[in-house]
Amino acid sequence: MTQTRFCYCCRVHHPIDQMRPFPTRQGTRWRCIRSIEAAACSLPERDAFGQQQTAKNREESRRIAERTQLLRHERRLAV
Ligand SMILES: [Zn+2]
Repeated sequence: MTQTRFCYCCRVHHPIDQMRPFPTRQGTRWRCIRSIEAAACSLPERDAFGQQQTAKNREESRRIAERTQLLRHERRLAV
């Protein structure tokens, strides 16, 4: 019988030769090589996407704030 270890990333057991100790904030957890490599590839991409979204949101809220100010200003002129 092959020895297996629980992969906290996939939440399944993998053969122990596919497993590597992976440091996390909670301590060392076991992850399979595949999940570690997949994360190493996708993480910078996800970060870039997140930054893009943050910039978009900031721009959007600035535009809304400007429009609100403009409306308030117009209303004051109309009165
Ligand atoms: Zn895994």
